Amino acid sequence: MGTVPSALKQCLSHQHLLREPLWIGEPPAAAHAAQEPQASGLPEYIKIVEVGPRDGLQNEKVIVPTDIKIELINRLSKTGLPVVEVTSFVSSKWVPQMADHKEVMRGIERHPGVQYPVLTPNLQGFHSAIAAGATEVSVFGAASESFSKMNINCSIEESIEKFEEVAKSARNMNIPVRGYVSCALGCPYEGNITPAKVAEVSKRLYSMGCYEISLGDTIGVGTPGSMKKMLEAVMKEIPLSALAVHCHDTYGQALANILTAIQVSHAVKCQSQWISVPRWEFL
Ligand SMILES: [Zn+2]
Repeated sequence: MGTVPSALKQCLSHQHLLREPLWIGEPPAAAHAAQEPQASGLPEYIKIVEVGPRDGLQNEKVIVPTDIKIELINRLSKTGLPVVEVTSFVSSKWVPQMADHKEVMRGIERHPGVQYPVLTPNLQGFHSAIAAGATEVSVFGAASESFSKMNINCSIEESIEKFEEVAKSARNMNIPVRGYVSCALGCPYEGNITPAKVAEVSKRLYSMGCYEISLGDTIGVGTPGSMKKMLEAVMKEIPLSALAVHCHDTYGQALANILTAIQVSHAVKCQSQWISVPRWEFL
């Protein structure tokens, strides 16, 4: 974890992405051997969920060609990352950057030991994803009513109903489901979001069978203080082993917030966008 990936220092176009050497993390076994267990009060192993091919590229103004996406995912698969989120099975009307989801899913090389989840907002997206070969899916809710309406065109309650349908079908097919909670530390429309609301939505997702809940600072307004308060509220409802954080670097606070999350609980899992973070996040 000592090396700062180049994508954190500067924004990269997708052409640059393929030229830049990707950060190669130490495999867990080597990392364990090199570390004094618990010496720093930090966990021995942190799982990184790479979401650049989905969350990063869907925020790019240009539409990245399908073969470049496939090449990016293939290279990420060789870095030692355990999870690479591939794409999103949403309507191409809403997110044209992800319209090639089927082609990307079919084109990537799957490496043993790497999971390739995709986003599915509803049952239709879920079935398309499974038909394209997905073996893990994610549903994405929000802790803000306004953001839910703007982002997925329905209220929080309506979104939960759709996710329950996805979770039920997934359970019948033995497909793991991961849950996202957007706006966990602030909303572009409502401003502050209470930790209690984040905990409530997280609990709903966990109760329906999501094996992991990723708490997203969607607009990067979180601070170590607000991260701590929010996590403390959510941890009362959900086992720590089922929590992850997803931090945007809009105001340069992502690493501080991630470190806080790790410190608040040694076992908290971390999600970050090492590669292809949207341009605006670094302005
Ligand atoms: Zn994000």
